[in-house]
Amino acid sequence: PTQPYDDANIFARILRGELPSNKVYEDDWAFAFHDIAPQAPVHILVIPRGAYVSWDDFSAQASDPEIAGLARAIGHVAREAGLVETGYRVLYNVGTHGGQEVPHLHAHIFGGRPLGRMIG
Ligand code: 5GP
Repeated sequence: PTQPYDDANIFARILRGELPSNKVYEDDWAFAFHDIAPQAPVHILVIPRGAYVSWDDFSAQASDPEIAGLARAIGHVAREAGLVETGYRVLYNVGTHGGQEVPHLHAHIFGGRPLGRMIG
């Protein structure tokens, strides 16, 4: 990883139940909640339960069940949010150029309006 995992990061605290969140879904592998500052009518964050800073260390070090668990959770959440027919976007920000602010891996799910072609 580019940096050691910080157990005090805000999403770790949400996972431990130390901070509130607007939960959408949880299972053995993943936890999903509404973004506090939504950028689209639907903006949900899906995080693995494991301690991974970013897509970089998750993709390199997570077990296959952890990776599958996160992928399945993202699809499940998007379906449950009713996004499949109109479509949606899944986004991981990584590091400085990616604009990642919270150092616990999170997938953004955006939907509910046309999202355009912007990459940044
Ligand atoms: P990043 O820029 O790291 O990819 O995205 C972090 C996201 O987390 C942002 O969209 C931000 O609005 C969201 N966020 C930051 N703090 C909190 C929080 O305490 N609760 C929730 N639900 N979302 C948060």
